[in-house]
Amino acid sequence: MSELSDYIPIVGQQVIDQLRRLADRLQNSRFVHVNSTRSGGGVAEILSRAVPLLNQLGLETSWEVIFGDPDFFEVTKAMHNGLQGDKVKFTPAMTAHYREINRENARRFDWEADFVLVHDPQPAALIEDLRPRAKNWVWRCHIDASRPRLEVWKFLSKFVKQYDASVFSMSRFAQNLAHPQYIIHPSIDPFSDKNRELTPGEVQAVLARLGVVNDRPIILQVSRFDSFKDPLGVIQAFQLVRRHTPCQLLLVGGEATDDPEGPEIFARVQEAAAGETDITLLMLPPDSHYEVNALQRAADVIVQKSIREGFGLTVTEAMWKGKPVIGGAVGGIVLQLRDYHTGFLVHSPEGCAFRIRYLLHRPEMSRRMGRLAKEFVRNHFLITRHIRDFLSLMIFINN
Ligand code: UDP
Repeated sequence: MSELSDYIPIVGQQVIDQLRRLADRLQNSRFVHVNSTRSGGGVAEILSRAVPLLNQLGLETSWEVIFGDPDFFEVTKAMHNGLQGDKVKFTPAMTAHYREINRENARRFDWEADFVLVHDPQPAALIEDLRPRAKNWVWRCHIDASRPRLEVWKFLSKFVKQYDASVFSMSRFAQNLAHPQYIIHPSIDPFSDKNRELTPGEVQAVLARLGVVNDRPIILQVSRFDSFKDPLGVIQAFQLVRRHTPCQLLLVGGEATDDPEGPEIFARVQEAAAGETDITLLMLPPDSHYEVNALQRAADVIVQKSIREGFGLTVTEAMWKGKPVIGGAVGGIVLQLRDYHTGFLVHSPEGCAFRIRYLLHRPEMSRRMGRLAKEFVRNHFLITRHIRDFLSLMIFINN
C-alpha cells in the first residue's frame, strides 16, 4: 500500500499537509464504512484505496461488507435499476426479504462508531436496528437516483430519511429529503494496480496473455455487463466504424458479487458479437486491476457509452492514462469529460461511431486531448481531493 508521502510528487506537499491538518481535527473518532461487495464495481474500488489511507491519517476506519443470498441481490439489483428509472418488479415479498437480510446483518455487526457511512441502497436499512450505535449516520448514494421509480424510492426513502445526512456524486442527483445533502465527487488512486504506471513491456505481456493481437487500433470499454453501460450500443457503434476503418473492439467486464444480472447481459452481448472476429469479449475476475490497467494503456480510444451512470470511474481511469474518452452524455460522465477538450460526449451509437472514427483518424489530436485529460484528473479526481472533501464534511457534520 502506498504511503501518503508518495502522493507529494503528484499533487504537491501542501495538499498532503492539508489532509493531515483536517485529520487532526477528527482524531479519536471512529469511522465505519458499509457496502455490499468487497470487489467489483466503483464503490469497492474506492473503499479499497481510501480506507487504508484514512487509517494512515490516524483515523480509526473500518470497512464492513454485508452478506446476502442470491434472492437479496436480485431485490437490490431491482432497487438499483428502479432507482435509475427502469420499470422493475418490486413486490412486498421482495421488500420483506430485503429488510430481513439487513436485520440479520445488523445482528452480526458488533462495532460502535462516531460516523457510519452506508454506501448505496443494499445496506441502507441497517439503520433501523443500529441507529443507537453511532452519533452520525450518512447515506452515500453512488448511483443516479434523480428520477427513480416512485414505488422503489418510496420504500427506500423510509430508511434514508432516518439518516443525518446524504451524500451524492452530483447536485442533480439530490433528492427531496428533509436532512442535509452534500456533494462529493468520486476519485481514483494513481498508485493502485488499476492506475499505476506500467512499462510498454508489461502492457504487451498482458495483451499476449489475454490473447489480444495488437495489429489494429483498439477501441475499449471496461464495464460490468450491465444494460445501463450499453454494451450492445458499443457493438453497434463499432460495426459502423469498422465498415471504413480497420480496428478492433475489446469489451472487458467482470462480475460483481452484488450484481446478479451480469451473466444474462453477457449472454446477450455474446449473441450480438457472434461471428465477429474483430470483437473480443473478456470476462475477467473482479481483482484483475493490473490487467484492466494494461488494457486501458494499450487502447487507442476508450469508450464509456453508458445510458445512465452514477459517476463512471472508468472514464477517469482512462483519462489518467492520457486517453481521450468518448462517453455517454449522462450522469457523472458529464462532470469528468470536457466535451471537445478531453474527449467527446455522445448521445447515440451513431454519434459514438462518428467520434471514434474522428479520433482514430487524428492521432495527434488524440494525444493532445489525452494530455489535457490527465491534467484534468490531476486537478479534480484524485483520491487526495476525495479524502479532503470527505474529512471536511465529517468535521462540518460533527460540529
Ligand atoms: N472494473 C474492473 N473490471 C471489470 C469491470 C470493471 O476492474 O471487468 C472496474 C473499473 O475499472 C472501475 C470499476 O470497476 O474501477 C467500475 O466503476 P464504475 O464507476 O465505472 O462503474 P460501476 O460498476 O460502479 O457502475
